[in-house]
Amino acid sequence: MTVLHVDRSVFFQKVVKSTSKIESVDFLSSDSIEESLKLLSENSIDLIITGQQLKDGSAKEFLQKLNHSQFNDIPVIIITSTDDFATREVFFNLGVVDFISKSDFSPDRLKAHLKHFERQDSIIEDLKKTSIAVLDDSLLSLNVISSILKMYNLKKVAMFSDAEEFSRINKVFDIYLVDLMLPKISGEQIIIELRKKYPHAVIIAISSLDKFNTIVHVLESGADDYIIKPFDARFLMARLKSNFRHHQLLSELQQKTETLEKMTITDSLTGAYNHRYLFQRLGEIISNAARQKHEFSVLLLDIDRFKSINDTYGHPMGDEVLRILSQQFMTECREYDIFGRYGGEEFMLIMPDTQLEEALILSDRMRMEFFSTVFPGMEVDQRISFSGGLIQWSGESSQELLKKVDELLYSAKNSGRNKINH
Ligand code: GH3
Ligand code: MG
Ligand code: MG
Repeated sequence: MTVLHVDRSVFFQKVVKSTSKIESVDFLSSDSIEESLKLLSENSIDLIITGQQLKDGSAKEFLQKLNHSQFNDIPVIIITSTDDFATREVFFNLGVVDFISKSDFSPDRLKAHLKHFERQDSIIEDLKKTSIAVLDDSLLSLNVISSILKMYNLKKVAMFSDAEEFSRINKVFDIYLVDLMLPKISGEQIIIELRKKYPHAVIIAISSLDKFNTIVHVLESGADDYIIKPFDARFLMARLKSNFRHHQLLSELQQKTETLEKMTITDSLTGAYNHRYLFQRLGEIISNAARQKHEFSVLLLDIDRFKSINDTYGHPMGDEVLRILSQQFMTECREYDIFGRYGGEEFMLIMPDTQLEEALILSDRMRMEFFSTVFPGMEVDQRISFSGGLIQWSGESSQELLKKVDELLYSAKNSGRNKINH
């Protein structure tokens, strides 16, 4: 971000520049209106901070010149030594965005401002990556919007003057600007359809109608905002930014919720499902199977002599073995199988729609694959096995089923390990 600081006093220019310096902000300084306009035309400036008296005129004259120039959309903050209501009114009417009196000028206040503008700047950066569709039957209106968006370097913009053409196109946009008064179909109808199809898009209605009833109605039809024509560049951009920021916050929240939901069902060491999820799914599958006469099988497995692996190679290596076993199951299993860590070095595989014979083939294949694995960092002839209990559900409750499968696992352990009993 680039800031232009205009003040007659070179000393004050230096004070502002040195005390308000924050990362990623470049300061340009000038002491006159003429030099400022030159700097504005040579650089891309995001914010102007001006004193009240400049070398070749007053801030008032500077602001009037700015307002009539191509730079009229650059926000201006004024730092003054006279701070009374009348002065404030004059400057706010000239379009300044804030007023800082020299007597209580503090670098922190200015820094807070710069940070705020920087955030706005980053929203514009994000907006540049955002696709925008504009639908308006008035070519004049389309041209105005197009040039405003171009001015802010927003290029992923598609313009439509015909509602039918707009409806035919299959592309999905992030932001829709829709004129309410269209020749054949009402803009409101389009908004209703867009909202139904894209619950998360930003939809803004544009219209010259300024009746509260219309506005309320359109907002209730699913528009996020309503902009009354005619509008100027800064107004349109402010509304776009504010709506887009809400949209961004909402999608961040959504992503975080998804991550959290995933975390609550995942075992952090192995990435497999956790005990809680296994238990919940087992309950669901049993009640479904009872209603719809489905068949399913469950394998409960436990790594053999795992304690000695930890003792010989260390706990981190033990962890790696748990991860590798999980990886093998997660990649080899069918999409509808549910594999998770039951606890410690015990894992469970729930196989929906699977009879015992098929489940046994799958389980034994996994047992042999694991037993033939060479683990990095271990002796080459070091093999690790697991034992399992396998059962096809035959009407038991989850408690009864877990008890039976645990007994089968116990018997596999007691009859030599590296085997699956059923
Ligand atoms: P068995 O063949 O009878 O199952 O013998 P075992 O040594 O595997 O069984 P035991 O229950 O005596 O020991 C289980 C070991 O698993 C002890 C525990 O430290 C280890 N273990 C449990 N969870 C983890 C873990 O998350 N990481 C590591 N590295 N070890 C774990
Ligand atoms: Mg064990
Ligand atoms: Mg165990």
